[in-house]
Amino acid sequence: MARGRSAVAGPDPSSPRPRASEAVRTCVGCRARATKSELLRVTAGRDAAGQPAVVPDPASTASGRGAHVHPTRECVDLAVRRKAFSRALRAGTGLPTGLVSAYVDSLTSTTSSTSTT
Ligand SMILES: [Zn+2]
Repeated sequence: MARGRSAVAGPDPSSPRPRASEAVRTCVGCRARATKSELLRVTAGRDAAGQPAVVPDPASTASGRGAHVHPTRECVDLAVRRKAFSRALRAGTGLPTGLVSAYVDSLTSTTSSTSTT
């Protein structure tokens, strides 16, 4: 009979990943995997004073090695404690992460304490 289920093939060898359209990265803080759109990219760049620092790269336009972290204070703090940024960025020595913390704070601060002129 033609009712056999052999036609219902198993995994399609041409598409090994279910969602190849969106890349998945690992958060350097909590180590959970998430899509790139859920994570904040950071790179080894320069701060305002020209010193090496971990800088946020929300547009993912900076060249070079990047790391990904959830844009939350929790994950950033975890990554800082583990020195995960420096490790992921192959920075060797510990890079200041104040810019990333400040960026995440600006994202998450929904309080009315903004003192814009
Ligand atoms: Zn995380």
